[in-house]
Amino acid sequence: MGHLKRIHDVLIVGAGLAGMRAAVAVAPGLDVAIVSKVHPVRSHSVAAQGGINAALGENDSWEKHASDTTKGGLWLGDQDAIEAMCREAPDDIHALERMGVIFSRDEQGRIAQRPFGGAGFPRTCYAADRTGHALLHAMYEQLLKRQVYVYEEWYVTSLLVEDGGCRGVIAWDLLKGGLHAIKAKAVILATGGCSRIYLTSTNAVINTGDGMSMAYRAGAPLMDMEFIQFHPTTLKDTGILITEGARGEGGYLLNTLGERFMKKYAPEQMELATRSTVSLAIGTEIAEGRGVDGCVLLDLRHLGRARILERLPQIRQLALDFAGVDPIESPIPVQPGAHYVMGGIKTNTWGETALAGLYAAGECACVSIHGANRLGGNSLLETIVFGRRAGLRASQYVATASPPLGDAGALQREEARIARLLKNEGRERAWQVREELGKALALHLGLARTKDRMTGALAAVRALKARAARVRLDDRGQVFNTDLITALELGSLVELAETVVAGALAREESRGAHYRADFPKRDDANWLKHTLCYYTASGPRLAYTPVTITRFPPA
Ligand SMILES: Cc1cc2nc3c(=O)[nH]c(=O)nc-3n(C[C@H](O)[C@H](O)[C@H](O)COP(=O)(O)OP(=O)(O)OC[C@H]3O[C@@H](n4cnc5c(N)ncnc54)[C@H](O)[C@@H]3O)c2cc1C
Repeated sequence: MGHLKRIHDVLIVGAGLAGMRAAVAVAPGLDVAIVSKVHPVRSHSVAAQGGINAALGENDSWEKHASDTTKGGLWLGDQDAIEAMCREAPDDIHALERMGVIFSRDEQGRIAQRPFGGAGFPRTCYAADRTGHALLHAMYEQLLKRQVYVYEEWYVTSLLVEDGGCRGVIAWDLLKGGLHAIKAKAVILATGGCSRIYLTSTNAVINTGDGMSMAYRAGAPLMDMEFIQFHPTTLKDTGILITEGARGEGGYLLNTLGERFMKKYAPEQMELATRSTVSLAIGTEIAEGRGVDGCVLLDLRHLGRARILERLPQIRQLALDFAGVDPIESPIPVQPGAHYVMGGIKTNTWGETALAGLYAAGECACVSIHGANRLGGNSLLETIVFGRRAGLRASQYVATASPPLGDAGALQREEARIARLLKNEGRERAWQVREELGKALALHLGLARTKDRMTGALAAVRALKARAARVRLDDRGQVFNTDLITALELGSLVELAETVVAGALAREESRGAHYRADFPKRDDANWLKHTLCYYTASGPRLAYTPVTITRFPPA
């Protein structure tokens, strides 16, 4: 009955793959609960298309996987974390299979694997082009089986911190209204990414980085926030993802001259070079006038009808529904779009953050696996490996942790904050500030960054942050007040946008997703280090920390 008393051993914020995997890993006998602002299976993990990596092949090895991941991330990933992930991946994939995930098969009946960008081997396991759907639903069944209590449609506004440790959260009950303290001996944040700081993005509208923002405000540093991945192929105008699996299956990229232009940029890897390379190549083609209506073309026609229908059914449907194009007959217009944040809450390889009792896993965390550029298929893997690890470590921690006490006045402070927000007068509307923020970042913090543009971005973000504090709500009620949630989410977005721009302005080199037109070279002598970002009332304070290098020296 822990949920009625709102007190648990382990409380997990977020019911995507990382959160649910963590819940399933918590030791039997402990009281574990999950809070999620949407129904669990509506978490963004459900939208993952292409697949999840693991070195299962006879001629593949976890060392090769680790080497590709390190190289793909331009040596900014911590190699102890990369090793742990790649070594444990095969067992985790088999565990997922036993939990009921239906992976696509090869002719011999083994789990099929497709080639993905930056990988020297076909090691991406998949369920057609709906891998996230298959994984998330299987994980939800496990949650039901274990009778994990879910606070469904509760929005966490902040962390409860007592005696220097995290002892629960403050959350708003969306259905009924009202703020409550939910106490716990340990909290795991699994709140996903924040690519919605950009106006068009492949991400769900709920991906506003709330967990990163609340950890940051509570004193845990964020790491490497300047590294935002642009996916090379999103559908014209909408930003809907067209999986890398489409190129993995053999799709070509063409410019207006009908050239496979990747031969100029990456003659060996061609369309399967890393995402930052392909995105920059597409950006250059478009900027130099060889685009097609602001896009380039992704041609799948030569794969043939049968293969498209078997391997890429969702991609075909998305292209039909949202661009009016049937990939069996015509190429798909695509352009790069904001997709993934490599940065996040700094953790060690067990999900521990700087705050005792606070853990983080999945896209909201920065372990760091992806370094300056994430390889496709490694993020789903990260949610599974490090979700499990965080669940295990939190279980050990609560065995000796003392029970949470009061709420140290935090509930009253948050109540006062929400009450002020509900009463605010003024002209600003949350959706409008959010739209302007998304446009400002798209304009000033796109594929190619410069000092001038980013200085402009910082000024814009600071002005928008001030406006965000003055928004007026049209709905001032208690029941299902989505207007209130939009305003709270906007608070996360402006806070995080500021950390992204601050980190990017300071980093005077180009590495992976962070391409500076004014500093086009990688500079290991000065910049082979992680950016740390600490909250202060006047804005982010930056510091730096070394990268962990074990077996792969930078080349
Ligand atoms: C379209 C798309 C396709 C992708 N395809 C692939 C792929 O093929 N392979 C791959 O490796 N990666 C892929 N990725 C990336 C990968 O899917 C994500 O990084 C990963 O699924 C994130 O999982 P998560 O568990 O960390 O977070 P999410 O699945 O985003 O879940 C976040 C959870 O946190 C909850 N939450 C957030 N804020 C609050 C709050 N304030 N209060 C309460 N609850 C909150 C949400 O309700 C949700 O349950 C893709 C991403 C996108 C957008």
